[in-house]
Amino acid sequence: MSVRRWELPYEKNALEPFISSRTIEFHYDKHHAAYEAKTNELLEGTFLQDEPLETIMRMTVEDPSRAVLFNNAAQVWNHSFFWRCMKPGGGGVPGGHIAELIDESFGGFEQFVEQFTKEALARFGSGWAWLVMRDKKLKIMTTANADSPVARGIHTLFTVDLWEHAYYLDYQNRRGDYLDALLRNLVDWDFVGSRLVE
Ligand code: MN
Repeated sequence: MSVRRWELPYEKNALEPFISSRTIEFHYDKHHAAYEAKTNELLEGTFLQDEPLETIMRMTVEDPSRAVLFNNAAQVWNHSFFWRCMKPGGGGVPGGHIAELIDESFGGFEQFVEQFTKEALARFGSGWAWLVMRDKKLKIMTTANADSPVARGIHTLFTVDLWEHAYYLDYQNRRGDYLDALLRNLVDWDFVGSRLVE
């Protein structure tokens, strides 16, 4: 088994005007595809080649001799998850159990957006911002470069790509504007809610 081309669950222009089709052409067709190709190349003929991505990530994260494999495999997982966390016509204020947990954990949706944005802006350079579940509570965390909570067995509910390639064509250096547009207009809250575990 190898990593297959992961299919975008919507058209490339479906997230406009918040994320342009031009951004997705580069981000999905070039960056994401390159991580998939490199992961397959590095896995071929190794003892890890038939393992699921999550296992590969956990088995390579602390092994400097496999850093290139970890970085590429983690980027495949992170990107596939990132695309799934958004949908055309998404966003708005969530409802249901996820909304209750957001209120409980952050004091309300606006406070969640504010805290998520603050932490994502504080991540220096490339990385990812995450909503995760730890000890039955929602938490926000960020990771550097390809690093991923998944590699450390932490359950993820939502992510935003903080690499410049995710927003530079549409927002240039304005990471905050990209985060605000995404958090308010693109989040697939049904998907995020479906990630909740007891
Ligand atoms: Mn990316």
